[in-house]
Amino acid sequence: MANEGVIQAWLYGKAVECTEPKPARAYHLVLLGAPGVGKGTQAEYISAKLGAVQLSTGDVFRAAKGKDESALSPAMQEAMKVMKAGKLVSDDTVIDLVRERTGCLTSGYGFMLDGFPRTVHQAEELDKMLATLGIKLHGVLNYTLPMDEVVKRLSGRRTCKQCKGTAHMIFNPPKKEGVCDKCGGELFQRDDDQPASIRVRLQAYEESTAPLANYYEKKGLLINISAAGTPKEIFADTEKLLANL
Ligand code: AMP
Repeated sequence: MANEGVIQAWLYGKAVECTEPKPARAYHLVLLGAPGVGKGTQAEYISAKLGAVQLSTGDVFRAAKGKDESALSPAMQEAMKVMKAGKLVSDDTVIDLVRERTGCLTSGYGFMLDGFPRTVHQAEELDKMLATLGIKLHGVLNYTLPMDEVVKRLSGRRTCKQCKGTAHMIFNPPKKEGVCDKCGGELFQRDDDQPASIRVRLQAYEESTAPLANYYEKKGLLINISAAGTPKEIFADTEKLLANL
């Protein structure tokens, strides 16, 4: 991948080392979208076609998880505990983490911040950071889908008891019902893929994101994109909207 150097710098807090050609236009974006709307797939398309690098704060924490604890700063060790408990890491820790990686924002490849900002305070701090760096946010892509549709997408997932591989009852059904195509193991529905838990997760997402969406709407940066349809159709809409920025 052309921008692999930026991703490595983001994940491990190193200096950006990337000599690949830069895109004609560096997009500065924030991505919003509930679990299950397909935001990750859109980020892959945007990255492949327009060069902007997906910068996910969750990925930074997951990369740190695999590291020797003693190599982590005290703030990062604390963040690991909070994350494992399924809670949000403190604003200060996340803001420091992004501040240590501003080279990824000014790399010239463009960026799509994913999972950050998550609170209005984080958004305000991001604004300050970007002002100091002399760069502007071009837009906030907000992928939306009615809750029932997200529940349908997420609750169709089945996981193999043996190899942990996944199938989808609608989009990728197994050849034989209840049996994993890869290893023949038994497929089951994880507790967090049950419709009731999905609704709880989605409600929590809506509550935490609504103030953020309002914040960017007031600034004229919010771009709502319907996440209904195929990934390619959604990307066609995304591209059109980005061309107008
Ligand atoms: P994600 O992959 O974005 O769902 O993030 C995984 C986990 O990392 C979250 O559940 C939080 O514990 C932590 N995290 C990631 N980004 C943030 C953020 N902007 N603010 C607070 N916690 C975060």
